[in-house]
Amino acid sequence: MKNAFLTIVAASLAMLAPATAFADDHTEVEKPKWSLAIHGGAGTILPENITPEQRVAYEAALQKALDAGSEVLKNGGSAMEAVQAAIIPMEDNPLFNAGRGAVFTWEGENELDASIMDGRDRSAGAVTGVKTVKNPILLADKVRTESPHVFLMGEGAEQFAGEQGFEVTPPEWFATKRRRESLERMKARALSALDVDLKFGTVGAVALDQEGNLAAGTSTGGMTGKRWGRIGDAPVIGAGTYADNRSCAVSATGWGEFFIRVGVAQEICTRLRLGPTLSELFERPEGERGFISNPTSLVDPQVVASTAQSTADAVMAEVKELGGDGGIILVTPEGHTIYSFNTAGMYRGRANSDGLNEVAIFGGEGEAAASNTPDH
Ligand code: ASP
Repeated sequence: MKNAFLTIVAASLAMLAPATAFADDHTEVEKPKWSLAIHGGAGTILPENITPEQRVAYEAALQKALDAGSEVLKNGGSAMEAVQAAIIPMEDNPLFNAGRGAVFTWEGENELDASIMDGRDRSAGAVTGVKTVKNPILLADKVRTESPHVFLMGEGAEQFAGEQGFEVTPPEWFATKRRRESLERMKARALSALDVDLKFGTVGAVALDQEGNLAAGTSTGGMTGKRWGRIGDAPVIGAGTYADNRSCAVSATGWGEFFIRVGVAQEICTRLRLGPTLSELFERPEGERGFISNPTSLVDPQVVASTAQSTADAVMAEVKELGGDGGIILVTPEGHTIYSFNTAGMYRGRANSDGLNEVAIFGGEGEAAASNTPDH
């Protein structure tokens, strides 16, 4: 019964949406829109945990990635190209836990994970446990386009990389002193990965291009001291990365085990695709009960943005309830960019065709303040 009711409401809303767009087309010609959001990891990122010099370095690195992706979108490039363009400089920058500067496994190696997804057709590619590929995000995309598979691991993924013409990058490229010291500290003091790092440094990007297509990508070294071939959420389609033109594109960072269990990225997109819940439909703004008086408000841009925000927050709250932490970035088909994190901070940035261009690190920073419910 409830489902039938929701179907009717959804059908009415679906009819309203194109009508609104049609009316707009006649009144003004909309310029093509694009949007981009990036992250470089979430965690206990507080002003007292970071020097002014580090802050400048992180902001510059985020801006570089944001500019690289924006340039692609501005010039009419695809969301898929923009996501890769934004992620590559972060993989190459030792500040982040991806590519160069990746964290070490228990055995003292750098094992890289990455995934990418195209919202047009939900084609996806992912790799895990890769040790010799400089930019794993590019290999993930090759898996998507040049193999019949979605997810390749370890030596097989490297063999595929070789066949696709990727150069073998030596381990020294990825290894940094700072990350090696984290592993040594962890072993010496029997600390957890979270205690030694205080933050996650996975990188990711989500984009909407001028054609209206969405894409998401994520790249990481995983968590310090990972053992037994552990795989986190970043390369798992549906957990760390998801893109579907019908709903949203999401990239995550955080304690991967929890993000896998909640299926964070796909869970957010699915909730948005299926629309507001019955209780949300009955929740009138004034707090009165009863059917929402003006259903067209549900396709209002502000409502779309706040629904995306509250949906992402609700899923992140589930991660927290289970004991996990981290954050996500999201872009909607309308071009809204959303952050949601339950840590003190998240390295992040966003830009769009309306001139928005910001990078931020701590909670509460940034235009249209991102949702942030720190527990530290
Ligand atoms: N999510 C990553 C993992 O669990 C870690 C991170 O976000 O830095 O592997």
